Amino acid sequence: MGRKTTWSAWQRRRGRRLGGLSVLVLVLLAGCAGGEHRPGAGERSRDEGAPPTAAPPARNLIVILVDTWRFDAAGFAGAKRALTPELDRWVRSGVVFEQATTPSGWTRPAVVSLMTGLYPATHGVQDKDHVAPGELTTLAEVLSARGYRTAAFVTNYAASADFGLGQGFDSFRFFEPEKAPRPVPKRKYWSIPEIDPEVSAFLEAPPAEPFFLYVHTTDPHWPYVPPPEYRLFGTDPRALYDGEVRMTDRFVASWLERLRRSGLLERSVVVLTADHGEEFFEHGGNGHGTTVFEECIRVPLVVWAPGLPAGRRTAQVSLTDLAPSLLEAARIPRPAGFADQGRSFWPVAMGVAPEDGWSWSYSELVYPDKGVAFAYREGPDKVVRIVHDKTGRKDISYLFRVSEDPFEQDDLKAREPGRFHELLARMDAIRREHVSRALEPERRELEGRARERMKGLGYVQ
Ligand SMILES: [Zn+2]
Repeated sequence: MGRKTTWSAWQRRRGRRLGGLSVLVLVLLAGCAGGEHRPGAGERSRDEGAPPTAAPPARNLIVILVDTWRFDAAGFAGAKRALTPELDRWVRSGVVFEQATTPSGWTRPAVVSLMTGLYPATHGVQDKDHVAPGELTTLAEVLSARGYRTAAFVTNYAASADFGLGQGFDSFRFFEPEKAPRPVPKRKYWSIPEIDPEVSAFLEAPPAEPFFLYVHTTDPHWPYVPPPEYRLFGTDPRALYDGEVRMTDRFVASWLERLRRSGLLERSVVVLTADHGEEFFEHGGNGHGTTVFEECIRVPLVVWAPGLPAGRRTAQVSLTDLAPSLLEAARIPRPAGFADQGRSFWPVAMGVAPEDGWSWSYSELVYPDKGVAFAYREGPDKVVRIVHDKTGRKDISYLFRVSEDPFEQDDLKAREPGRFHELLARMDAIRREHVSRALEPERRELEGRARERMKGLGYVQ
């Protein structure tokens, strides 16, 4: 059965996707359909009684997340400097989602969304001391229960097992900043050259397949302190940040090359992305975790998978879509209620469904010490509402046409009030829906070493 026929049959059963809020409802229906039996990790054949799926057949699932990597800091996204020469070659064999966003402007909520397929207001993990509650079901837990070996290598303390991110991992290697082999003043995380030996060793001798691997690297997170050989672009903060991206490019490409050489790449889905971007005063501030402008919420997202037709996609996908997508690639039924705010992106990744059903995205930031802000994009337009942020903005909203104004400099709110209020109403409806099923996060008191580590990353004073 050809891909188009397969998709058509699937689409007829599930109903057509519609734009805007209707998508939320249909995604819930699609989640129910995921309860049908599909072969799991131990039964790999996709043709024996499996319902049609657009997902490519893959045994292993690999996510490489580069902390703080803004979308336009990639050659394949038009960076002016040669930041990612090696990945620029690699993306030719993958799918680049050009309009991918993170559901949150800082690390922990974004990673919890990635692992659960829920938006931040629903999983509830938003503030600096929030811990992902045990009642949350994570992708690693679902995969582990179906026989997957699960391993994580994590360098950012904010995304460590201390905050509930270890759920479902057989092995969770957090690189303790105090033990970095080549310490650099101020830098409170292991840099990518320091973790490379362990990640490479894993890739050379992985567990018996199938496995789920999550690698979370932290350069180019502040402080920007690349080694001398990567101070290629100057010494101002942006140039040093760019140098760390260039360093990351080399190591991530070397991991992809290891996967290719061992043949694992042909049997795996590999996702390369970021948890959020970084501001360099485009809107008056710097760092991240305070606003939801494009420089903070638009992220690189590249996917490699067997049989995936390489190219670029304009679908507005979110990190929230990763868990349902990866589960579908593993041919594991989605447990009831799991990841039901995400959408499997395979129909658009595989090129068997139109991308116009993926015309909206939603992000928020509720980090009271640093900023509270919401963003909703529909088609070319985006509304941003800032409750407060660290630059002193308060109770202010904007309308931008990001297709023509990608850096959000021209506020159209006064000129197009109808459009502004339309999008604002949709954004509020989404937020209300997310809040209506909010879970209560657990909390961890930030004191002693925990406080020092969070302070070292700029997350607390
Ligand atoms: Zn981060």
